[in-house]
Amino acid sequence: MPEILFIVDTMLGTLAKWLRVLGFDTLYEAGMDDDTILQLAIQDEGIIISRDRELCGRKPDSILLRTTDLDEQIISILNIYSADKNKILSRCLDCNTVLEIAVPEGNVPEDIIQHYDEFWHCEDCGKYYWPGSHYENMKKKANIFHLLSLAILSL
Ligand SMILES: [Zn+2]
Repeated sequence: MPEILFIVDTMLGTLAKWLRVLGFDTLYEAGMDDDTILQLAIQDEGIIISRDRELCGRKPDSILLRTTDLDEQIISILNIYSADKNKILSRCLDCNTVLEIAVPEGNVPEDIIQHYDEFWHCEDCGKYYWPGSHYENMKKKANIFHLLSLAILSL
């Protein structure tokens, strides 16, 4: 099965970030207009996620979100597409690139380098990730969403 690609509407930046935390291939750019989103979705066979009924109506497999609550939005998506536990925090949250294990250099503070054994690097935007408290909290929340998605799918 080819990997799912989500194309997230411009107002939903936080949701896009969380879909990346969960490991979904997620295209999001602030300022994309409806025509661009639709064109990309057709060209790359992506699933549009939006709160805009009109936009979603233009591509039948789009996901129309009916709530502004982030958790409810995530769960309604996981209700349709299950998350892969092994892919949690495998993508850059800023640019969606798949992260690689790396030895940190340059912009990572020395005390962080001393303190952690594992680092991941985004080759595209140069950002480093390490299992600090913010990371761990995201991972915990992502795991809860993952468990919820399993529960939903087995209903
Ligand atoms: Zn990046």
